[in-house]
Amino acid sequence: MKMTIQTSVLTLKNYINGQWSEPISKQYEEVINPANQEVIAYAPLSTKEETELAIQAAKESFHSGIWASKTTHERAAVLVEIANKIDEMAEELTILETLDNGKRKDEASFDIADAATAFRYYAGLILHPDGETYPVPDNVQAMVIKEPIGVAGLIVPWNFPLLMAVWKIAPALAAGNSIVFKPSEVTPVTAMKLFEIMHDAGVPKGVANMVIGHGDPVGQTIAESIDVDIISFTGSTNTGRKIMQAASSNLKKISLELGGKSPNIIFADADLETAVDYGLFGIFYGAGQVCSSGSRILVEESIYDEFVARYIKRANNIKVGPGLAEETEMGAIVSEQQMNRILNYIESGIQEGATLATGGKRLIENGLDKGFFIAPTVFTDVTNDMRIVREEIFGPVVTIQKFHSEEEAIQLANDTDYGLAGGVFSNDGAKALRVIKKVRAGITWVNDYHPTYVEAPWGGYKQSGIGRSLGKYGLEEFQETKQINIRLNVEPNGWFN
Ligand code: NAD
Repeated sequence: MKMTIQTSVLTLKNYINGQWSEPISKQYEEVINPANQEVIAYAPLSTKEETELAIQAAKESFHSGIWASKTTHERAAVLVEIANKIDEMAEELTILETLDNGKRKDEASFDIADAATAFRYYAGLILHPDGETYPVPDNVQAMVIKEPIGVAGLIVPWNFPLLMAVWKIAPALAAGNSIVFKPSEVTPVTAMKLFEIMHDAGVPKGVANMVIGHGDPVGQTIAESIDVDIISFTGSTNTGRKIMQAASSNLKKISLELGGKSPNIIFADADLETAVDYGLFGIFYGAGQVCSSGSRILVEESIYDEFVARYIKRANNIKVGPGLAEETEMGAIVSEQQMNRILNYIESGIQEGATLATGGKRLIENGLDKGFFIAPTVFTDVTNDMRIVREEIFGPVVTIQKFHSEEEAIQLANDTDYGLAGGVFSNDGAKALRVIKKVRAGITWVNDYHPTYVEAPWGGYKQSGIGRSLGKYGLEEFQETKQINIRLNVEPNGWFN
C-alpha cells in the first residue's frame, strides 16, 4: 500500500490560563496510530489538581468579563480568525487526525472542513441576535435576553476528535462562556493544535483551557465541580449516566450527546441500488464508529433476499486499510480495546444464533496485522432480543432484519433504548414522511443517510441524550435566559400602608 506521510512524535501539553504546562504528575502515556501501533504522541496523565486550576482560571476569566463583555462583533472576529487558521492548517490537521483516529484520510478532511464551518457559522449567528419583548399587564414592559452561563465543561469522545470538540467550543465561546475542555485520552492530538490556533487567534488568557487525561480524574472532576455551570458531554450512554450523577453536585445544566442503535428502513419501492449504497455508507463510514450509524437495517420482505445478496457482495469488496493509503475505503478501529469489544459482540451474535453472513473477523493480511482492523460484518437471521441488535457495538457490524408491513417496520425501529438517528428509503414520499415521523429519533433522513449540517439541531431521544448541538439550539445550550421587567410608571405600589 502506498504511504505518503511521516510524522514525528509530539509531546502534548495542557493549556491552562493561557500557558502551556506539563502535567503535575510528570507522567505521560503513549498515543498510538491504530493502523500500525506506532507511537505518534505522548499525552499528559493529568490530575484532579490541575483540572481544578483550569476550572479556577475559567471562573476568574469569566467574572473578569474579558471575553463575556466583549461585543459580539469582537467575539465573532476571533471565531472567524480561528476558522481561517483551521483552513490554513487543514492538510496538517487532516493527517494528524487520520494518524490518531485511524479513519480514512478523506473522512478526516471532511471533519476539518466542517470544524472551520462551525466556527464561521457561530460567528455569523451571534451577529444576528434575537430577543423578545412583551407589553405585559400593570404598565410593565417585559424583555427576554440571553446571557452566557459561565464556566462550561466540555468532554468529548474519540470518534471525531476535532469536530466533536468544535461542536462544543465554537458555540460555548460564541455565547461568551469560558471553557474547560477535555479531549478523549485516546485521540488528543488535534485538540492541542486547535488550542494553539485559538491562542494565536486572540482568545484571551483563561477563557479557553484544556486538560488532557482520563475520564477519572479529569472528566469526573469537571463534572463534579461546583464552579462549573454547564457540562456538555459527548460519549457513551454509560458515561453519560455518571456525568448526570456528578452534575447534581451544584445542579449544573447538562447537555448529553450519547450512543445509538439506529434503524435504516428499506421499503420495497425504494431505488434498490441507492438503498444498498446508503445501507453500506450508513454503517461502514468511519468503520461504524459513528454515533448515528445505521446499525440495524430493516428490509421489506419482498426485496429482502435481493437486498441481502447485493449488500453482501458490495460489503465484501470494501477495501480495509490504513487511513492514509489512497486505496483505503474503510480505516482502522481506534484502539485494541475497542477492537476486542467489537470482536466480543461478533462472538455473542454467533453464540445467540444469528447467521454471520460475511466478515466477523480481525483482518491481518497484507501488513494489517500491525494495526486494528475488522472486516465489514453482516449478520442476518437476528431477533430483537439479541445483544447485537440491542446494544451499541460501535464498529463495522450491521444486522439485517425482515419486516412484513409498515407497522412492523415502525415497531422494530422503535424497539430500542436509544433514539439518536434513523433513515427511510422509499419512492413513495407520503409513506416515507409518515414513517420517519413515527421513528422516535432526533436525527433522521429520507433516501439519504449520515450527512448533517451545522444549521440543523443534532441530538437524541430516549437514552441517546439530552439537549441539542448545532444550529441556534447549540448556541442556546450555552446560554441562560433572563427576563427583565421594566415598570413604565415609577411610583410606590402601596401594598403596605
Ligand atoms: P466514553 O463515554 O468512554 O468517553 C467519552 C469521554 O468521556 C472521554 O473523553 C472519556 O475520557 C470521558 N470520561 C470517561 N469516564 C468519565 C467520567 N467518569 N467522567 C467524566 N468523563 C469521563 O465514550 P467513547 O468510547 O470515547 O466514545 C464512543 C461513544 O460516544 C459511543 O457511545 C458513541 O455513540 C458516543 N458518541 C455520541 C455522539 C453523539 O453526538 N450523540 C457523537 C460521537 C460519539
